[in-house]
Amino acid sequence: SKQSYKWQRVLLKVSGEALAGDRSQNIDPKVTMSIAREVAAVTRLGIEVALVVGGGNIFRGSSWTGSSGLDRSSADYIGMLATVMNAIFLQATMESIGIPTRVQTAFRMSEVAEPYIRRRAVRHLEKGRVVIFAAGTGNPFFTTDTAAALRCAEINAEVVLKATNVDGVYDSDPRHNPHARLLDKLTYEEVTSKDLSVMDMTAITLCQENNIPVVVFNLNKPGNISRAIKGERVGTLIGP
Ligand code: UDP
Repeated sequence: SKQSYKWQRVLLKVSGEALAGDRSQNIDPKVTMSIAREVAAVTRLGIEVALVVGGGNIFRGSSWTGSSGLDRSSADYIGMLATVMNAIFLQATMESIGIPTRVQTAFRMSEVAEPYIRRRAVRHLEKGRVVIFAAGTGNPFFTTDTAAALRCAEINAEVVLKATNVDGVYDSDPRHNPHARLLDKLTYEEVTSKDLSVMDMTAITLCQENNIPVVVFNLNKPGNISRAIKGERVGTLIGP
């Protein structure tokens, strides 16, 4: 039953890069299918799952400014639109295996998805539907990590589960230091003071201010997503 799990309502953040897998395509359907299967398994246990998807596999606003005459806001709006593509792909994948899923966008595109309405999102979750929040916060200059922290706080989810391509947070960059150590636990202060690249500052301080724990874990390991959602030890836990 619900009671036997650590969390009853979680916010799963899936970055765009994670969706790309190791393919040259923007989206690897094997990745989206494995996410869908694992999310399906936990929703059947009664755990409520909301997702925030990134868009970095398609377009990242910050890397376009300066070149090409794009101003930051326009670039960021394109980035937010990219997250909607990922959200629709994930929704279709989820529904193909029988999980009712709703996409809610931070700015209106009503022919494509519902607009973000907090109470309606909560209602969907209570009915056992998965909700995918797309278009980030709806504002340029923010990230989907910040959107994850924000939506988590708004819908009273208990944790942000940040699915990435690495096992968690290391004490130094494992790509450059072969002795880098994976950290089990970290405080918000450690993340911000040591400038560990976990989430951007806005996202992590929003979590801190609202006492939202963050779990950073590797979604490429089979079973990890459902483990994280069920509250089992996986990756790095960030908290007070
Ligand atoms: N973005 C934005 N406001 C938001 C969320 C996202 O402007 O609230 C834009 C921004 O340009 C960002 C892009 O959308 O680069 C894709 O999101 P993000 O980089 O967070 O995706 P991820 O790194 O998770 O794939």
